[in-house]
Amino acid sequence: MTIEVRSSQICRVCGLSGAKVAEALGVCCRCLRRRPDEALPPAMAVHGRIRSRLALPADPPRDPAGVSCRLCVHTCRMAKNAVGYCGLRRTPGPARDHVGAGRGKLSWYHDPLPTNCVADWVCAGGTGTGYPDYAHCRGAERGYRNLAVFFHGCSFNCLYCQNWDHKQRAAEPEIRSARELAAAVDRRTSCICFFGGDPSPQLPFSIRAARIARANTNSRILRFCWETNGSMHPGLLDRIMDLAIDSGGGVKFDLKTWDENLHKALTGVTNRRTLANFRRAGRRIPERPVPPPLIASTLLVPGYVDVEEIHQLARFIAGINPAIPYALLAFHPQFAMAGHSLPTRAYAHACRQAAYQAGLETVRIGNRHLLIS
Ligand code: SF4
Ligand code: SF4
Repeated sequence: MTIEVRSSQICRVCGLSGAKVAEALGVCCRCLRRRPDEALPPAMAVHGRIRSRLALPADPPRDPAGVSCRLCVHTCRMAKNAVGYCGLRRTPGPARDHVGAGRGKLSWYHDPLPTNCVADWVCAGGTGTGYPDYAHCRGAERGYRNLAVFFHGCSFNCLYCQNWDHKQRAAEPEIRSARELAAAVDRRTSCICFFGGDPSPQLPFSIRAARIARANTNSRILRFCWETNGSMHPGLLDRIMDLAIDSGGGVKFDLKTWDENLHKALTGVTNRRTLANFRRAGRRIPERPVPPPLIASTLLVPGYVDVEEIHQLARFIAGINPAIPYALLAFHPQFAMAGHSLPTRAYAHACRQAAYQAGLETVRIGNRHLLIS
């Protein structure tokens, strides 16, 4: 799916032209890094235009007298009838609009294992690591299933969002209960993956559903995993790390860029909370190192997430723990960046090399079928 946003394939700051300048952004990576005062304002204006088309606020609401929400980095304060940045929360209104620990906006489906999870190359379900405590067998858990939970709404506004219909679905009135979700766990379900959109704005719901599911399944294997942009309140991160570590699951952080201005241009949001949360989660690794409880991934966006970004991110990850698995995922043109180019094999391999050079022990290129020569 796409949303058409035209700016220019010429950087409006330095005049660079060509495939490395995203038409939606109209500014290049180098200017976002080195001349943010000039390059960032037009990039942020693009986010505002896209969000207004989707009836989402350009910025987090900041009414000093409004209702506050601290679930994620935005700490919205919503005036009467205002909606939060994620599009999910609004001030008291019709009960059907409310999401919370027991009520959520989401959908789910079962996926046979091994599945295409970001961590399937290192996790218990994909490889059997952690057997017999956390996996049913020594290899991939064939015959078992993952319950994939797709949360609607997100705390970021990535220009290349891979499944952006969640933004529209966040405004739909349909509500599901945590009990309903937990009841979807059957005898062949050995893990639940909470993703989206992003689970951050609905973490209390995922935590409640996980606890109900665990109570329903007694002591049999049921791993809990989260795939997230990492923007949640640190206290909620602690709670999902508890559940992931205890169950044999993991929390998968999507680290989009190292440079904060580049991050703002691509996602509309700072990366400071995400990086601080990743460091915080990394301190928990010794509690249960196998299977890995913390996994990192980065989408290789040509022209923007370059070798320098990957080197810096990998150095940051390795400084926390060099054993953290790192997946480099090939970009697929989507949403506002639907016209952007696919990554080349040479670029992906150079990024992987940079990650190893930065000190990481386990690095993988994912979505290889998207790489071009
Ligand atoms: S949900 Fe967790 S355990 Fe299951 S396949 Fe995905 S990463 Fe592996
Ligand atoms: S979850 Fe985040 S974006 Fe949504 S209302 Fe709360 S603070 Fe705002």
